[in-house]
Amino acid sequence: MARKKIAAGNWKMNTTIEQGIELALRVANAERNISITTILGVPFTHLFPLQKKIKASSKILLAAQNCHHKTSGAYTGEISPEMLSAMKVPYVIIGHSERREYNHEDNALLALKIRAALNSKLKVIFCCGEGLEIRKANTHINYVKNQLMESLFQLDANEMKNIVIAYEPIWAIGTGETASPAQAQEMHASIRSMLQKKYGKRVAENTSILYGGSVKGNNAQELFSQPDVDGGLVGGASLNSDEFVQIINSF
Ligand code: PEP
Repeated sequence: MARKKIAAGNWKMNTTIEQGIELALRVANAERNISITTILGVPFTHLFPLQKKIKASSKILLAAQNCHHKTSGAYTGEISPEMLSAMKVPYVIIGHSERREYNHEDNALLALKIRAALNSKLKVIFCCGEGLEIRKANTHINYVKNQLMESLFQLDANEMKNIVIAYEPIWAIGTGETASPAQAQEMHASIRSMLQKKYGKRVAENTSILYGGSVKGNNAQELFSQPDVDGGLVGGASLNSDEFVQIINSF
């Protein structure tokens, strides 16, 4: 089984529902390579209306950008994985650096979220990545290894089928500064070798590892041509349908 090539957009806290529908339909109706798994990570409020508007034949999949680690209960303002799965939302993004920073989500909490999401039959896009200080200190590989060990490596090999990893160096997110293709490849190859050590060759070969951090229409092709880069998690550029479609068509 060849691993999936994936273009995933992360809209963050952007667009009204009307704007979101327009954006999603532009992507859905554009000429694009439909063998690329295309995912839109949208605000919770948009999931239901987009499900109604996007035809299954357009092969666009939706992701929530977060979920709680409990199934239900007195957690005002939260959304449970169970709720997403009951809506048939296939993916959830867990561990985005903005949630780690602004919502103080640590590796232990993210482990609980991943467990809860898989228990509810969601697929997880798990984000990892180092900040600038760590990169400058040249300890980025070990830093990411620790993130994987503490949040992800509780899973068994069979459960890893439902995991996509997104390597997102924080210094490249929303900054316009992209990791070089060589920097991305170095980390992706290291992650794959960590997967191989923990789970064996089959899991390592079958797990898609996305790069995120200022992916644009004009740099996607070079990044995606790296042997261990299986696609992108795209923030800002996913808010422009033409550019996002260009990224999808960059493989
Ligand atoms: C992101 O939010 O996951 C991201 C990578 O953002 P950007 O593409 O804007 O850097």
